[in-house]
Amino acid sequence: MASIEDVYDVIVVGSGGGLVGAYAAASRGLRTLVIEKTDRVGGTTAYSGSGLWYPGSAPMRRAGLDDSIEDARTYLRDTVDDESREPLQEAYLRAGVRLIDELEQNPWFQSFEHLPVPDYYPAVAGSSPTGHTIFPPKVSVAELGEHARLVRACLPTQRWGHDEGPVLSGGRALIGRTLAAFLETGHGSLRLDTALESLVVEDGRVVGVEAVSDGERVTFRATGGVILAAGGFERNRELREKYQPVPERGSEWTHGAPGNTGDALQAGIAVGAATDLLDAAWFTPGLVWPDGLPLFHTGTRGGIWVNAAGERFVNETRPYDQAGREIVRLHATSGVSHIPAHWIVDQRQLDRDSFGGPYDEPVRPEWFESGALKKADTLEELAQLIDVPLDALRKTVEEYNGYAHTGVDEQFHRGETPWDQMAQYVLGFPALPQLNHPAPPPTNDWPNPILPPLDTPPYYVATIVPADIGTKGGLKIDEHARVLRPDGGPIEGLYAAGNTAAAMTGRVYPGAGAPIGSSVAFSYLAVLDIADAEN
Ligand SMILES: Cc1cc2nc3c(=O)[nH]c(=O)nc-3n(C[C@H](O)[C@H](O)[C@H](O)COP(=O)(O)OP(=O)(O)OC[C@H]3O[C@@H](n4cnc5c(N)ncnc54)[C@H](O)[C@@H]3O)c2cc1C
Repeated sequence: MASIEDVYDVIVVGSGGGLVGAYAAASRGLRTLVIEKTDRVGGTTAYSGSGLWYPGSAPMRRAGLDDSIEDARTYLRDTVDDESREPLQEAYLRAGVRLIDELEQNPWFQSFEHLPVPDYYPAVAGSSPTGHTIFPPKVSVAELGEHARLVRACLPTQRWGHDEGPVLSGGRALIGRTLAAFLETGHGSLRLDTALESLVVEDGRVVGVEAVSDGERVTFRATGGVILAAGGFERNRELREKYQPVPERGSEWTHGAPGNTGDALQAGIAVGAATDLLDAAWFTPGLVWPDGLPLFHTGTRGGIWVNAAGERFVNETRPYDQAGREIVRLHATSGVSHIPAHWIVDQRQLDRDSFGGPYDEPVRPEWFESGALKKADTLEELAQLIDVPLDALRKTVEEYNGYAHTGVDEQFHRGETPWDQMAQYVLGFPALPQLNHPAPPPTNDWPNPILPPLDTPPYYVATIVPADIGTKGGLKIDEHARVLRPDGGPIEGLYAAGNTAAAMTGRVYPGAGAPIGSSVAFSYLAVLDIADAEN
């Protein structure tokens, strides 16, 4: 039996993007509980660059951009191309603008800043070359005080003990700031190491959650509503095998936070929720590091990717979700293996750009010792190393070098879009401090600087696999973030946001900041709905 302390107005399950919704609830005086399965706050959101795709929001106007929600609506509608998602898109666009206005009233959120990240589909009407992505300001550990240690570390720290330094940037800044603001309201409670197991339903309405907290079963009740913002199911091998197109090692190759095993999705299904898009994910190419696992890679500046036939198959600099999905699609449909794909560079590229690879650091010995990077003196040796037909590889390299000399990639048009030319903004690793200090654009004497020739042996080859930054299928929601049944009616008292919900973007990724934008916006919309009902 729950005690009186265990009754709240709002329960938010998961402390990633949903934490912003929790702040919005608590700042309205609603008694709000956040339960978080792990011992840290932030989920995948903390790993991220924390871009929010919010067209027409105040930071866009402050940047002097004539940013129109109308154009963004057209763009979103046309890229997603699915009428059934348009009401969600409309709600998202309006919520983003309103939410940023509201957040910026609080000193913890002053002030978001627009940085140019081009929309990912430049040919679609309404697309913007400067994009609509805004970022939270960095925050120092000193400013955050004791809250700082609760924020999930960024991926490099978790994987390699990378020094985080005294400043939180990207997603860690958003989470740190939100946590401080949430707790300062005086109406917010946080329970770490507390995992949702199931939902409590009475008379057809969700009235609480059953959870395991520090090994004990507990019940928390919510009079207003339960918001499921517990990420996707990217870390759940069984669910991936059931639904996803990269079942083999997808749950290891994902960048999703460790707690994201689809618990909220399953809890929602158990109370009768409808689902959608369960085969979809926010894909990204992953460059395999010496520890054998991939890391989000985008912004390839040199070299080529080839499949098992020794052929190029994509514009290597294409926006990450499109490149990642193309690997998955071709692997499944072309009859040629694309997993893994091989990224080939030459000595000049290695000297110039550290093979355009992570962090722009010099290549360390462990890359070779582990076999993550292999060296070949000739194309013959290279073809043998990666087991591709030599004739085909030679032809691919010759063709590519022809394009490099004219500056026009006739096959895949690399370097022709604003994204291709500006991908250095997210080159390497978005959660690192260089986000706000992007590397300068590549400069060299070639007609197209992103298309340098591949003609200076020895050659080097690294491995690219499809990774993701979360699954994006989940519980079906309406424009108030209410979870829907298969008949289209809402399950009273139950809401979902972020990667727990089926994405308003369908299978596409329109621009930087759509995933967290969705998590934040739909948890906010849920709070507005709950607050309306309470008044
Ligand atoms: C390197 C990198 C950079 C990225 N950059 C961006 C970017 O700039 N902009 C952008 O929009 N997206 C970006 N993404 C993608 C984005 O971070 C995620 O898709 C998004 O953060 C998911 O948000 P969420 O709120 O759905 O889930 P999460 O942020 O993952 O939060 C879910 C939380 O729920 C918790 N949880 C899970 N199960 C339970 C349970 N049973 N009970 C209680 N808690 C539970 C988890 O432990 C986790 O803390 C990036 C991702 C990566 C890896």
